[in-house]
Amino acid sequence: MRIVTEMGMSEDGGKNLEANKELLGKVALVTGAGRGIGRAIACALAGQGALVIVNYNGSRERALETVAQIQSCGGKAEAVGCDVSDFQACGKMVEEIIGKYAHVDILVNNAGVTRDNLVMRMSEEDYDKVLNTNLKGAFNTIRHLSRYFLKQRSGKIINISSVSGVLGNAGQANYSASKAGLIGLTKSVARELASRGICVNAVAPGFIDTEMTQALPEKSREAAVAAVPMGRMGTVEDVAQLTAFLAGSRSDYITGQVICVDGGMS
Ligand code: NAP
Repeated sequence: MRIVTEMGMSEDGGKNLEANKELLGKVALVTGAGRGIGRAIACALAGQGALVIVNYNGSRERALETVAQIQSCGGKAEAVGCDVSDFQACGKMVEEIIGKYAHVDILVNNAGVTRDNLVMRMSEEDYDKVLNTNLKGAFNTIRHLSRYFLKQRSGKIINISSVSGVLGNAGQANYSASKAGLIGLTKSVARELASRGICVNAVAPGFIDTEMTQALPEKSREAAVAAVPMGRMGTVEDVAQLTAFLAGSRSDYITGQVICVDGGMS
């Protein structure tokens, strides 16, 4: 179990933020926000005025880069190290954030890993790793934060699923199962928390240009792009803009939904 905190504020304390920013005064926790989609989401939320807790596991330097990027635009952010698959560590991270800021308003479960293989060759370790990070990780943060959301009678939870969880994908039985599981988690928790004004939604990106997809062999990338009706990969901003909308008040009557950002794939 490991918890590391690095506090960061813009030099003027963020006073130059415009007063009309939608998420001013809100605290957002974004898991896996040191790079890729998570970083773009953290920047989008901070751009709307939220103070963003940038969670990371292995990539501390990258998380500090995200914090610096947010600060350079006049926003507020802090990096917090925690392995989301560790139930107790997530509890400690939540207590630490609540102890410091008294509330969390937005939770984005973005942390995710892949360990692709055909099911007949997939190791138990690779199955467990993916399920424990992608699905149990989201349960862990929701489990620890939901009582605060319930008490404050507000909150936005956004789970980053995948088109693989909607359609299935050969070679990704573990990943698809975790992302389909996230959809079930989203819909069930949405029903549990709706009466207290808490919205829980899933975003299902298609093929987005990040380190996760850059690691694929060129042939697989070409095949994936060929399956996108819009004929191109998505950008991290495509996912971040929708997530920011779901985090704000303009989506207050939307809950239990799975919204695909996939160029038409699904
Ligand atoms: P990425 O560049 O590989 O980033 C993954 C992030 O997850 C990293 O910041 C990583 O942080 C974090 N992470 C992994 N294990 C963690 C753990 N145990 N605890 C905390 N953080 C952890 O991937 P990405 O493409 O940006 O993907 C972000 C999310 O979108 C994932 O859930 C992914 O499944 C989903 N998604 C991506 C695509 C796509 O095409 N790229 C499509 C659909 C869905 P550390 O480096 O610090 O460990």
